[in-house]
Amino acid sequence: MQPQNHFYQTLLHRHSQDESDIVEHCLLCFQNVHKQEDIFHYVKRSSFLCGACRKQLEPLCKSTKLDSLQLSMLYRYNDFLESMIFQFKEGRDIALRPVFFHEVMQELNDKFRQYAIVLMPSSKEKMLERGFLPVREMLQACKLEIIEPFYKTSNHKQSLQNMQNRALISQVIQRRSDVSLPQKPLLLVDDVCTSGSTILCAYRKLLPHTYKIEALVLAAHPLFVESCDEKGLLKRMRFSIL
Ligand SMILES: [Zn+2]
Repeated sequence: MQPQNHFYQTLLHRHSQDESDIVEHCLLCFQNVHKQEDIFHYVKRSSFLCGACRKQLEPLCKSTKLDSLQLSMLYRYNDFLESMIFQFKEGRDIALRPVFFHEVMQELNDKFRQYAIVLMPSSKEKMLERGFLPVREMLQACKLEIIEPFYKTSNHKQSLQNMQNRALISQVIQRRSDVSLPQKPLLLVDDVCTSGSTILCAYRKLLPHTYKIEALVLAAHPLFVESCDEKGLLKRMRFSIL
């Protein structure tokens, strides 16, 4: 599928930049990337967001258990992150792709080098509408093998469904028979975890996989975090965001 012209325009507008480049301007607000920069990021000289934008992210750095699946959550899904994800996905602002997992990309490439990443499916309609798979783009700098063993049977907008309807998600997500699983541990990755049902359903459909399976989400909904907290399921995760 050809990406839409809009992507190229966006890319040209912001100079075509490789994820390994040091950027001068924040990819979100276009101000100097050192604006309100903390010493760590200044020394590291590697950031795609200025200090002022990054401060609006709320690192969560917690993990929980969904059945026996360990799920790591990087950030709290707050208004700032919601609007940045919306701008990226629905506004097709593909230049934002490196900002999301940048702080953990090195850890992902090092600690999980034996793993293959498993993406959650997008509906065909969304894929055609956007012209790209958002999480695959967010992981553009990731060196791990990335597989897409699922498809969605309809455009099921999970955040609009109630808990009961979410049980239907197991019928919406289906395993592709033409994609076999690699003989290695798997890391399920998604952008937003609302109830955990998508990741959990995907996990169940991957079983029995004889290697370890873990999960990582960019952002977790505050209500989901709260419910894990009430059940005493939260603990420190393997990733660190400074
Ligand atoms: Zn900024």
